[in-house]
Amino acid sequence: MQSLWRDEEARGLSGLDLLVYRSRLLGRDPALVLWGGGNTSLKHQEHDFRGRPVAVLRVKGSGADLRTIGPGDFPGLRLDDLLLLQERASMDDDAMVAWLMQCLMEPQARRPSIETLLHAFVPHPHVDHTHADAILALADQRDARRHVEAAFGEQAVFIPYRRPGFLLSKEVGEAVRGAPRAHAAVLERHGLITWGSGAKESYETTLSVLTRAEEYAGDRARGRVVLGPLTQPPLEPQARRRLAARLLPRLRGILSRVPVPGEAEGPGSRVVLRWDDSDDLLDFVGREAAPALALAGPATPDHLMYTRVRPAIVALHDAPPAGEEDTDRLAAACEREVAKFADWYRLFVRKHGGAAAAADPRPRVLLVPGLGAIVAGRDARHARIVADVLRHGTQVMMAAAGLGEYRSLTLQEAHDIEFWPLELYRMSLAPKEAELSRRVALVTGAARGIGRAAALRLAEAGCHVAVTDRDAEGADAVAEEIRARHGTDRALGVRLDVTDEASVAAGFEAAALAWGGLDIVVSSAGIAHVSPVERLERSDWDRVMLVNATGHFLVSREAVRILKAQGTGGSIVVIGSKNVLAPGKDFGAYSASKAAQVQLARVLAIEAGSDRIRVNLVHPDAVFQDSGLWSDEVRQERARAHGIAPEGLEEFYRKRNLLGEKVTAEDVAEAVLWLASDRSLKTTGCILTVDGGLREAFPR
Ligand code: ZN
Repeated sequence: MQSLWRDEEARGLSGLDLLVYRSRLLGRDPALVLWGGGNTSLKHQEHDFRGRPVAVLRVKGSGADLRTIGPGDFPGLRLDDLLLLQERASMDDDAMVAWLMQCLMEPQARRPSIETLLHAFVPHPHVDHTHADAILALADQRDARRHVEAAFGEQAVFIPYRRPGFLLSKEVGEAVRGAPRAHAAVLERHGLITWGSGAKESYETTLSVLTRAEEYAGDRARGRVVLGPLTQPPLEPQARRRLAARLLPRLRGILSRVPVPGEAEGPGSRVVLRWDDSDDLLDFVGREAAPALALAGPATPDHLMYTRVRPAIVALHDAPPAGEEDTDRLAAACEREVAKFADWYRLFVRKHGGAAAAADPRPRVLLVPGLGAIVAGRDARHARIVADVLRHGTQVMMAAAGLGEYRSLTLQEAHDIEFWPLELYRMSLAPKEAELSRRVALVTGAARGIGRAAALRLAEAGCHVAVTDRDAEGADAVAEEIRARHGTDRALGVRLDVTDEASVAAGFEAAALAWGGLDIVVSSAGIAHVSPVERLERSDWDRVMLVNATGHFLVSREAVRILKAQGTGGSIVVIGSKNVLAPGKDFGAYSASKAAQVQLARVLAIEAGSDRIRVNLVHPDAVFQDSGLWSDEVRQERARAHGIAPEGLEEFYRKRNLLGEKVTAEDVAEAVLWLASDRSLKTTGCILTVDGGLREAFPR
């Protein structure tokens, strides 16, 4: 295991800055620290608010992530006040948290880690605590103590499993004080604690202990067949992709329809899916012994909080699935397994002392041998974390099975962690949910103009957005803009030509594979052409009809197929035009194509209403800004049709509406957001005008 410590980087750093440096080094390697797991600390002298010297423990704040941690994420606590607690025989969690809060150097600091006392009671200046994969191969053993003693002798102390909290901290402190030759503590089914008199020593001890653990497990696993034969080889990549694209929306619907206590039935309990078919994972799930191992439980309490106590496992059956029928069969199997999991989970909660009625009974991980793993999260970020934790968890299981016999938390232990208020508090520190953060949208014509503004507005409301356009670079640029503002998993740039059936299908498939389904479609792609009917060329007529009418038809058809398969309703928002209700001269092809689009949307509203799929229209007028529609040529031609100079066109449109307002793409995007969201849950087949008020274009 390679040390990332660079003396030239660390030189000149001291105290808290050096703690930040060391913490980020640990946080950089996902095999050591995953997504907010692990914690680090420093004991040193500071001055309190009156200038008196005081011994202070700086420890990671609850919910902070070592990868990105900064000095402000380490609350300081008066060490003497913490050490007083060593005299106590016991202390409950509430009293412990209250005590910790009283010890804070800065009263407004974030809550310190729930493992704060673990750090306080280890009598060394620098302490690192990780749940690293390599140590868990030894710590998650039926015979963990023997392996730890064989690997480390007197250099490490072994601490039997106990839920984190006061007693565990006290036991660790006593064990470390009683073992002067030790430089590490291995916590059964939990992780590793190392320490040092300097920051570098503490960090490099972590690495050397993990390297030794890897060697030890590797030596003993050599030549052993670990998980038995591959009973379900992976499907071919193409077949996997095709099957996943069909299955994911179905599964998303199944999971989202399970009632969850405390959340509104339906939309509130929606999930976003992440499909993982990495080679390691496919190999793991396809092995004979994998189901038993996966069902044995997660590697640590930390893993448990993300993957839950066990996965659901769905058999693929024998034939490599290809067609609709196979997807139906597999979706039915998923539905059975999800229901089975929910029954089992409620029983699990009741049996171990919890209130089953209050628990979310859905699996967060589904293993499908041959296809991979499908994980469910509140949003894509959460699903990514669960998937990462799962992948590392399977590495631990395989390494542990290679060494001896993998052993996880007992069901009682798992239950007590899952419903432990302090863990629930830590989980509640995740980013707040936004209005649309469980939703997925696909927007066409989104590289510029109204489409772009709609994509940005939906993303701002938390939505995951497939930004599609015939102009792939333009779509990518808008997607990148969203990712930079709202996070890596929030947007996807997709080349999509609305006039090409295969391209439309591929665009929707990309969204389904990225997030597991679809909730919102904004049909915005469109072109214009100016000519009086008598001089209108057949080729121009065809071109405009193809994009504005046929293109919209192809997009709507694909959307409604997916939304129906998913079965959780949906919203299709169509960008129409003021021209449909109040046509102008020389705009025949455009107005006729938009009228066809609008009429099709209204028919679709009638057909899809019983599936709770809403179809609504926005009629903007004269949105010039950043528009692909208003080319120089169209501007000149429209100006001529109105008998004015081209540079006076925008002003002409502004003055002709009742409010005397210029209509912007953002104005239209607000209307799109309203129709896309549940705020308009009772509205379908509706025309919403965003035109500054035009009497002749009032819908009737
Ligand atoms: Zn821990």
